[in-house]
Amino acid sequence: DQGRAKAPVATERPAHVKRVLAVASGKGGVGKSTVAVNLAAALAARGLSVGILDADVYGPSLPTMLGLSGQPDYVDGAIVPHVAHGLKAMSVGLLTKADDAMIWRGPMASQAITQMLTQTRWGTEDAPLDVLVVDLPPGTGDVQLTLIQKTPLDGAVIVSTPQEVALADARRAHTLFQRVNVPTLGLIENMSGDVFGRGGAEAEAARLGVAFLGDLPLDAALRQAGDAGRPLVSAEPDGDVAQRFAAVAARVA
Ligand code: ADP
Repeated sequence: DQGRAKAPVATERPAHVKRVLAVASGKGGVGKSTVAVNLAAALAARGLSVGILDADVYGPSLPTMLGLSGQPDYVDGAIVPHVAHGLKAMSVGLLTKADDAMIWRGPMASQAITQMLTQTRWGTEDAPLDVLVVDLPPGTGDVQLTLIQKTPLDGAVIVSTPQEVALADARRAHTLFQRVNVPTLGLIENMSGDVFGRGGAEAEAARLGVAFLGDLPLDAALRQAGDAGRPLVSAEPDGDVAQRFAAVAARVA
């Protein structure tokens, strides 16, 4: 019965980072990374200094979604994060070939992520980072458990699509966070609307006793902005999607 009700493993906090928030999902392809980058942009729009760490070893999408390329510089033994759209950004996809990371097991994945977390110069003593958003790999298996045990998370936002099969996985994600004493800050329903239904995540949040943080419709502009390397929240700061993320940011900031 490995892993059950374990106390959190000792973690190393990144220096000069005030809060670390995870964005998680029980399933892949539900829009976790899309939410992570747009939430980060919405937090930055509130005047916070924000970083984003792409810990999704199975499919790092931050390089595409933020238009990042090239290995980061190292200065005095620290990784200098890229800066894109006002966000300090670091991705497992910038350090390694995606195909290599895909086959990592828990310990290797968590070692790489601990390294990016603690060796990146996210902030300085004079200018600490207010929030670091961590885009976790989807799923609720051993790799994810190891990661969240070793990452000093202050809270987690769980992204789900509305249909029952996705919600069951969101439930498992919440259970995983409970096991390591990381508070679930709430659920976000993505791709809400005609195709997948609507309201499932809100009902699920009520059942789990966690906050419902809002929904996002299927929106071609969200996908296009992601493919073009620019969060929609930054590209259209007055748009409907930006307003929805502003509301989420206000609740988790
Ligand atoms: P995950 O991180 O959960 O695997 P992504 O954020 O990478 O999911 O999203 C998967 C794909 O779906 C991407 O092409 C993304 O642009 C698109 N997508 C995500 N959310 C939406 C949405 N609400 N409307 C339209 N496309 C979306």
